[in-house]
Amino acid sequence: MDRTHLLSDQDEAHCGPSCPAGSYADPNTTPNAGATAPPADVMPVVPGYESLGPNVIPPSDFGVAQPQAPSRAPERRFDIPAITEELAHEAFIKYASSRCCYSSKPAKEMVFTDLQSLNTYRYRLETFTESRTTEWDSEPYNGQVVDGFGVAPAPWSIPVPIPSLFQDCKKSIRVPHTSTVKGCHSCLNLGRSACSRCTNSGRARCGSCSGMGRTSPDQRCNRCHGSGMIRCHSCGGAGSITCKTCQGQGKLLCFIKLQITWKNNIYVAVIDKGSGFPVALLDQITGEKLLTDMAPVVYPVASFPDCSINATSQSAVTEHLAQFATTCRILQQRQTIELIPITRVHYTWNEKTHIYFVYGTEHEVFTKDYPAKCCCCSIL
Ligand SMILES: [Zn+2]
Ligand SMILES: [Zn+2]
Ligand SMILES: [Zn+2]
Repeated sequence: MDRTHLLSDQDEAHCGPSCPAGSYADPNTTPNAGATAPPADVMPVVPGYESLGPNVIPPSDFGVAQPQAPSRAPERRFDIPAITEELAHEAFIKYASSRCCYSSKPAKEMVFTDLQSLNTYRYRLETFTESRTTEWDSEPYNGQVVDGFGVAPAPWSIPVPIPSLFQDCKKSIRVPHTSTVKGCHSCLNLGRSACSRCTNSGRARCGSCSGMGRTSPDQRCNRCHGSGMIRCHSCGGAGSITCKTCQGQGKLLCFIKLQITWKNNIYVAVIDKGSGFPVALLDQITGEKLLTDMAPVVYPVASFPDCSINATSQSAVTEHLAQFATTCRILQQRQTIELIPITRVHYTWNEKTHIYFVYGTEHEVFTKDYPAKCCCCSIL
């Protein structure tokens, strides 16, 4: 049994179209967005927020108890269809005619000797989680309302609507009653910071004469009038520039920012029955959905006719619970089982025996030895 096991690694910062903008628009798009807030040791201690960072779910904060997966799954029946000779023939003719240098004669004239159903299954478990982390953040203070009174709600008790199930998304909100006004640490409350180009002097070396004061031995520089220095372009000669952190205000409104991350974690496994068919081809094709099961925590599938699926489901559910139940809130799980039809066809043409495979609901064809094609062709 070959199991391809992967976690969804979609870009976390990317939100789908259904993800609304955060109620607090984060002006700092750099990865170290929190760096604009003053150092943590000058910030007040907010009850319930003594240590910031990822928030492990305290059981008392959890509105709905984290459900436990029951040990038994409900009984289900699965009907497993098989492909007919007509469909297999049709797919083969279509395949041959889609290849420019394949003769369609073998596909049309071939005689079936055997059709073997090698159906396999794809199991997928999605665990949609929410995690919350907190950090100090700030914005320039220019007289806006300071929400600093009252008890700050605990991180997991702040209601934030889920934008969309099974879609990665991020959102930031300001924790109520955590705001405070502080002097700007970047400019020491001045609102201006030193110009890095002229190191505070307001004057820079003249570019026309490279600071020599002359453009030739007997020609004085017209731009700097022989001094070799001109007014600094960056600061306009002031020697300082407006502080970027406080935008010249000298003060910052600091607050605790709650960052919420929704993530769809995916476990996929395809059962390889060792039929000689390359299972990698199955990544791109669709199967027939035999089961779609959605719940806050799904039951591991226990009564599927192919016991590899039962074992896969059991280990996937156990693994995801162990991985996510203590660090995230599991919002929803969805498991699906797809039947991937594969039929191995044995046929004769021109007194020789050959094999091809028909796979997927798209009835794709795979063969290594099509009997009549021109020698310049290479297949798959
Ligand atoms: Zn000059
Ligand atoms: Zn300057
Ligand atoms: Zn500043």
